[in-house]
Amino acid sequence: MKLRFLGGADNVGRMAMLMETDNKTMIFEYGMTPTKPPSYPLPSPRVDHAFLTHCHLDHCGMMPWLCGRYDNEVFTTPLTGEIGEIMMYDSLKIAKAEGYAKPFSSEDVEATVRNVVPLTFEDTIELGRIDVTLHSAGHVPGAAMFELVGDRRTLYTGDIHTLNTNLVYGAKPVKCDNLFIEGTYGNRLHKDRKQSEKDFVDKVKEVVEQGGKALIPCFAVGRTQEVMMLLKDLHYDMWVDGMGRKITSLYTEYPEYLSNLKKLKASRRSFHEVKSSSMRAKSRKGEVIVTTGGMLDGGPVLNYMRMVKDDPKSAILLTGYQAEDTNGRMLMEHGKVVIDGVEEKINCPWFKYDFSAHADQAQLVEFIRGCDPENVVIMHSEHREALRDALGGNYNVILPAVDEAFELEG
Ligand SMILES: [Zn+2]
Ligand SMILES: [Zn+2]
Repeated sequence: MKLRFLGGADNVGRMAMLMETDNKTMIFEYGMTPTKPPSYPLPSPRVDHAFLTHCHLDHCGMMPWLCGRYDNEVFTTPLTGEIGEIMMYDSLKIAKAEGYAKPFSSEDVEATVRNVVPLTFEDTIELGRIDVTLHSAGHVPGAAMFELVGDRRTLYTGDIHTLNTNLVYGAKPVKCDNLFIEGTYGNRLHKDRKQSEKDFVDKVKEVVEQGGKALIPCFAVGRTQEVMMLLKDLHYDMWVDGMGRKITSLYTEYPEYLSNLKKLKASRRSFHEVKSSSMRAKSRKGEVIVTTGGMLDGGPVLNYMRMVKDDPKSAILLTGYQAEDTNGRMLMEHGKVVIDGVEEKINCPWFKYDFSAHADQAQLVEFIRGCDPENVVIMHSEHREALRDALGGNYNVILPAVDEAFELEG
């Protein structure tokens, strides 16, 4: 098989990998990096099939560009299809609000939605001489890995997490000859998950008991629901606001992608949902507020930030990665954020917790050993050499550059 990354080989963002095999051109993901301005993968040639692992914009963000031009099918889980649609429309809205050229139209998003071929875990489809099977990637609900079986076995992981969390079961290794694996955390280890979860819940209690508000900015997809599940047994006045609400209700329609539907439903009952502006006014009196967006860059979080920023009893509890050029990163580095174009100093305390949905170095190494491949292609990482070194020379490790053609036996 002939391979070429169009993006995302050596960084976390704009994933895209072309594969030519069995007289077909296939693409794994076509994403974008939501920086300011956004960055896109190289233009793709015509493709016969597209594989989409999950709904994060760095994986799905440019699928409409493909489907609008080539009318290709997109193989993915139905849950990823539904959430991907929300994310793609949202990225058009953001482009408009920020004044960037739109890379595709809303008709292109419609074409993408129409072209989704919904498949679930352990489903197999035949594409000529190749059988394709989906496996759970454990990263967020509905995230899939693709196994291709032709003359040899190939696995493309997308983003993976191998731990069981409140929300999803971890990914299990799949025996293969060629492994394409992400390496976001190829150079570091996460703190113990259970300990991070305990520290977080303790901090929420401490803030509320001393009379403050715990403001918890969260990514809409996955993190909002995990945080709600962690806090569900606290008897405080708790509110959830923003896109995360919509994602929670979608998740409950797809219990097959969750580790514990009951628990998610129970957590929903512990929170008031902000559905209107009058409810938003009420939520401001709440003790715990879980809200989109996770990097403090847009959504209802900014109004809540204004509310708590000068209250020393309240606190902001960050729950995810804060990318460069975001308010979240600015808070961490300079203690400030920009709200409606005005720089505001944040005087209340803030804390950050590691609830990563990516496998760390040790977990990646263990997963790779379990797959027992001959060739390992590391992608989606700024730390590929560190992961290669951790693997200790047992595999043929390939670190392709973007636009570099290479071949593997497939
Ligand atoms: Zn992801
Ligand atoms: Zn990713």
